[in-house]
Amino acid sequence: MTLIHYSFHTARRMLQKLATLANEIRQSGASTSMGAEEIGKQSSQIRQHPVPSAHQPTASIDPKIADSHNNHNNHNNQVDGVMQGVTPDAADNYNAHNFEADNYDGHNYEAGDDLAEQNFKRSPINWIPAGVLVATPIAAAVIAPWYLATHKVSPATWAVFGLVGAWTGLSITAGYHRLMSHRAYKAHPAVRNFFLVGATLAVQGSAFNWCSGHRTHHKHVDDRMQDPYSAKRGFWFSHIGWMLKKYPSGNFDYKNIRDLTQDKVLQIQHKYYGLWVVAANVGLIGAIGWLIGDVKGTLLLAGLVRLVLNHHLTFFINSLCHMYGTRPYTDTNSARDNFLLAIPTWGEGYHNYHHFFQYDYRNGVKWWHYDPTKWLIATLSQVGLASDLRTVDTLKIKHAEVNMLFKRALHKVDTLTSHSDSAADQLTPSALQKFSQRIMSEHVLFNETVQAWQALKTEAMAMKKNEFAERLHEVDELLKGKRKLIEQRIKAHQYNVHDAFFAIRQRPVTV
Ligand SMILES: [Zn+2]
Ligand SMILES: [Zn+2]
Repeated sequence: MTLIHYSFHTARRMLQKLATLANEIRQSGASTSMGAEEIGKQSSQIRQHPVPSAHQPTASIDPKIADSHNNHNNHNNQVDGVMQGVTPDAADNYNAHNFEADNYDGHNYEAGDDLAEQNFKRSPINWIPAGVLVATPIAAAVIAPWYLATHKVSPATWAVFGLVGAWTGLSITAGYHRLMSHRAYKAHPAVRNFFLVGATLAVQGSAFNWCSGHRTHHKHVDDRMQDPYSAKRGFWFSHIGWMLKKYPSGNFDYKNIRDLTQDKVLQIQHKYYGLWVVAANVGLIGAIGWLIGDVKGTLLLAGLVRLVLNHHLTFFINSLCHMYGTRPYTDTNSARDNFLLAIPTWGEGYHNYHHFFQYDYRNGVKWWHYDPTKWLIATLSQVGLASDLRTVDTLKIKHAEVNMLFKRALHKVDTLTSHSDSAADQLTPSALQKFSQRIMSEHVLFNETVQAWQALKTEAMAMKKNEFAERLHEVDELLKGKRKLIEQRIKAHQYNVHDAFFAIRQRPVTV
């Protein structure tokens, strides 16, 4: 086995050397154009500048700023949000992602990995969830069309179908997800329990299982072995396949939800989960049906059809939201922002932002983003039923966004100057040179801005140390102007990069 292993490695190394050699030969042949060659030189000279390369994740560009993500007590977030044994924060995401998730992409296995993979795939069937997930869509697809063709359904039944659908959907997004898994806000017990009943109607597992699995998903996102619904295993697995078998990644020990396991109500829900599911989906829905005089129709539409729809719309967040859309905040994981997916998922389609800043109560962070869950939470807080809504500092969000823009712009410079982009052929050498120079010099300035921001934070910390508690707000007030200036500078960098792309009639791609 060792011999095979060794020969495999040697062969791989030789192949890599050959590939590098071929690449060098190709590049030396390709750079006959004077323009590209000169720009290539300039590009490497600028890279020798002490400013770190934007090709690295943000954490490498400015570790202090990445660390600051770990600080829950920022300007907008005075909540003590430290969850025991959990990684609720974007900085933790950086750490989780720095293990080169792409190595898990499926083609780079060692012999031991093959064995682990075989064992993973041989996991036994998870009969109860598999039975529910297979039987309910089939039953809905067969019974609902027949029933609708042969019975008249009253507007009241349709209204209950819609209302229970909204209750169930929002109980998962605002309840299980943002309230319990991420502690993005605090809710009045009445609201918390209302969401708990709605989430039980959803038949997606107890709060313990859902939240433990979800926190693991965030911590090990895209890891084939540890992320319970790893998108690296494809659409089917991340959508539904992960629940059909008893995979080791789906075996939760609840160590990451110690804040929830103390909760008496959640303990009862977990202990008698099967009973609650039947009581809610048959007892409660049947009772509503009796009240409006249509038990059968309500059980079918607000019960079965609503359940199947809610299942698959929620599952889209794990599958499609890791496949299609843009990555404006980070490309270190597969999560995407997708407006179209935000519509059926109650605003959870802005998944790239959510994976980067998971403790924010909003997923659609811009005011125009369609996120009914954030509107519901904000409304609840207005009427005193929710509090301590956690948000990420706007400057931090802008920094992440512009940092990604530079990452893509510098990549564009590389591909244009190495002629591996068809757009390079359509540009004159002078346009190409101008574009590259603009991006490079803007990037140097951007790094200076980031350093100035860091210095400002250090200054604020030092000032606060020397001030009495009652005068702390004066420090914030004093530094407000400087902070505003940093924000304007970051926005100006963003504008200038867009302008450089506009000049060569292209758009920075965000996928
Ligand atoms: Zn995700
Ligand atoms: Zn989440």
